[in-house]
Amino acid sequence: MPSNRSPTVSDLGEPHVKHKISHVVTLALGAAAGTSNGWQLASYDVPLALTVSSAFAVFACVHLGAEHLACLLSGTTYRCTEPGCAFRVRVTGVNAAENRRWQETAAAHPTHRLVRP
Ligand SMILES: [Zn+2]
Repeated sequence: MPSNRSPTVSDLGEPHVKHKISHVVTLALGAAAGTSNGWQLASYDVPLALTVSSAFAVFACVHLGAEHLACLLSGTTYRCTEPGCAFRVRVTGVNAAENRRWQETAAAHPTHRLVRP
């Protein structure tokens, strides 16, 4: 009988927890950079609207850049084994069963994308 309860952290496994921690860390980095930027602009009598918009822009850039970097460092890439095929799948924050499923998908995908010279 299927359960209607929401999945808990223990159900989702350790990779999901690592992904959440990484997300919180990148948010904190973005917030620190945005706050620092806003603080520095405020000391130069920059109008509030410009200070806030600049601080949010810095926050977004630092947060998204750090997220991308964390994804590159923590993810796993599965490539097609067919010679000349450029198909690949990048996964991050998934459990072992999901990892295996993506590995099999990359090995047996329906059409091959051949790289042209
Ligand atoms: Zn392929």
